[in-house]
Order: sequence, then structure tokens, then C-alpha cells
Amino acid sequence: MIQTIRGFRDILPEDIALWQKIEKTASELFDNFGFREIRLPILEKTELFARSIGETTDIVEKEMYTFPDRKGDKLTLRPEATASVVRSYIQHKMYAADPVRKFYTIGPMFRRERPQKGRYRQFYQIDAEVFGVSSPYIDAELILILNELFKRLGLSGLKAHINSLGCPECRPVFQKALKDFLTLNYDRLCPDCKRRMEKNPLRTLDCKSLSCRKALENAPSTLGHLCNECSEHFEIVKKMLVKQNVDFIVDKTLVRGLDYYSRTAFEILTTSLGAQSAVAGGGRYDSLVKELGGKDIPAIGFAIGFDRLTEIMAQVKKSDEKPGLDIFIIAIGKQAMEPGYLWMSELNLAGIKSEMDFSGRSLKSLMKRADKLNAGHVLIAGDREINENALIFRNMNTRKQNIIPMDNIIKDIKKLLKKE
Ligand SMILES: [Zn+2]
Ligand SMILES: [Zn+2]
Repeated sequence: MIQTIRGFRDILPEDIALWQKIEKTASELFDNFGFREIRLPILEKTELFARSIGETTDIVEKEMYTFPDRKGDKLTLRPEATASVVRSYIQHKMYAADPVRKFYTIGPMFRRERPQKGRYRQFYQIDAEVFGVSSPYIDAELILILNELFKRLGLSGLKAHINSLGCPECRPVFQKALKDFLTLNYDRLCPDCKRRMEKNPLRTLDCKSLSCRKALENAPSTLGHLCNECSEHFEIVKKMLVKQNVDFIVDKTLVRGLDYYSRTAFEILTTSLGAQSAVAGGGRYDSLVKELGGKDIPAIGFAIGFDRLTEIMAQVKKSDEKPGLDIFIIAIGKQAMEPGYLWMSELNLAGIKSEMDFSGRSLKSLMKRADKLNAGHVLIAGDREINENALIFRNMNTRKQNIIPMDNIIKDIKKLLKKE
């Protein structure tokens, strides 16, 4: 049997409703804010990513799907969308009539990462990019849009983490300070950071290793080295977020390893699944358009991890989904079968959707079945309950139980359902 490649997966019809719901909610919101959709090829010249993401990054060095085509041209399955959007913006001279453009695009990206649960080598992103605006109000707008999108999708505990990475004016001063600090604390750094220190010192700041986090507790932050303009920029972003009730914290460990990032960087975290996890991230990349051969046009954008978002939403949905049926009758033992069947019919005739299982299985396996059917309630009738004339009526969500006698059972159930 031929199967999918490792790290690749099918998204099956039973899961597609969620994907479509997210796409629809996102497109509507983008449309409201003046973003237009752009669709781009998934195959690009390798050079595009080598130049934009940087030759020495992990993505380009280890993770890209790169191969020669039949003529020997080096091609790459895109590992992210920003580079392609920028290429398209430059290629079609979209800046000519009006440099201010807002785009969004939804589609698959490819990275040959180590397969892990919930990580795919073909993964999906929702991207938005804004060109031609250097004002901090746009930074705030993008964070607002993300926050609103996740709210509309029912995510909870949303928090934006924001930081400013400075600009080509002020960053060198910071980088020097950071390098000095890292040199002083070299022995305490993890092997990865010892390497990063030379190529990409900024990345030491978001190292997850405990020893590095301790060693870097008092490391210099970009925020301590911002020039006046960067500082003012960041203040306005924060002020707007406060005014628009976007919950955020300033997180000095939020950095981007790539040089073209400048000023605002952000991530949106949710606690929908308990622990905090990031669902989107982005930032300003004012020098990238120029670096890829265009004019000196500022830009900012974000990417949403689509796969992760569907996972979170599937979990959230499970907990607040409408019941598949009102009552699942658990009749255990011969004595209960006949009355159980009659109650079920009577309830169904009264418009209370009910089902029961006639296989005579155990309470435990029938409770499991009730869960699977997403029953709102179970009515438990075993030998003991019948002999004592005391059936158990249990709300599967609140876990509240009522004991009801058999005589007026349908009436009693109706009353209980009404009270809820
Ligand atoms: Zn600056
Ligand atoms: Zn480290």
C-alpha cells in the first residue's frame, strides 16, 4: 500500500468544516480591513529564500525542500510566504500606482523538520502583509486583527506578546552590548547558544534551555537601547493596544533571528488548551523589500499557524459542542430492557431525542458510548435502580445527578430538562 510521505497528511472531509470556517472568518475580517487576497506559487527559485531568510539560518541550511529541476535550476518548495509576497509585489511593480498595499494569502508551506506530534512537513499558514506604511498604527492594527480573529473563532485567554527590535540605527549598539554580555557569560551558555553567539546572537535571548534562561536573566534588552524614533514608535503601538482593549505584555525575550526584522515583533498566545501556546507571530521587516531588489518600502506582516489553530479549535469545540442527543438510556440487565425501550420511544415521541443500547453491555462501556454519542444526559436503570424505584438521571456536562422514581418518569425528565 502506498502511503503519504512522512510528515505529510490528508485533511479528510470530516475535518474540513473547521478549516473552511477559519478561512471564511479570516477572509471576512481581512476584507473589512482592506486586505486583498493574493495566491502565489508554492515553488520558487531557491535564491529567493536564501536571500530573504538568510543562507545561514536553520530553515535554509537544513529544512528546505530544495532540488534541481530537469534543467538544473535550483528550486525550493516555499518554507514561508513572506518572501513570495515580497517578490510578487516587486515583480509586478505593485508599488508604482500606490505603494500602500495590504495582502493576505492562505496555503501550504514546506519544511523538512523533525516529525513531532502536531508538526507537519507540509503545514498551512494564513499570512497577511502590509507594504508602504511605516506608521506604528499599522503595527497596532495587525495585532488587533489577530486578536479579533481568534476571539471570533472562540479562543480564550488571548495575550499578545510584543517587543521592539530597534532599527539599523540603534540595533548595532544593542548587539555590541549583548555580545559583550555573552562573552562574559560564555561558560554558562548551552552548546547551541555558544554557536549562535557568533552568527545570530539575538537568538540566544529566546533560548529555551534553563541554564541559558538563567544566564541571560540580566542580559541587555533591545528595549534598553532603542533610539528616540524606535522608542516613540513602540509607545504608540502600546498606547493603541491599551485603547483597543487588546491584552498584551511587553516580552523582551521575543526576538527574530533575521536581520531584516525591525521595530515591532509580536506573537499571540492562547490558553484555550490550558498551557499558553502561540498561534500567530509577526513583525515589521522594513528592509526586506529593498534587500530583494525593490525600493526602500517599509513592510510588516504576520503568519498564523493554521494546523495548530484547527487543533486548538477542535479541542475547544469538543467541550462546548451541542449534544448529539438529549438522553442516552443505560439499561443494564433483563429487567430494565423493556421499560428502557418504552421510555426511549416515549421520549422520542415527545421530541426529546433519546437512544439506548440493547446489547447488554456493562455500565462502563455504555458510559463510553454515551460520551461518543455526545449525549447531554444519561438515564441509568440497572437491577438495583429498578428494585429501589430510583433511577439515576445525570447531566453529562455539569455531572449533576438526580434520582427519579419510575412512576412519572417522562414528566419528571421533562421538568428537569426545563429547569436546566
Ligand atoms: Zn532605532
Ligand atoms: Zn541556549
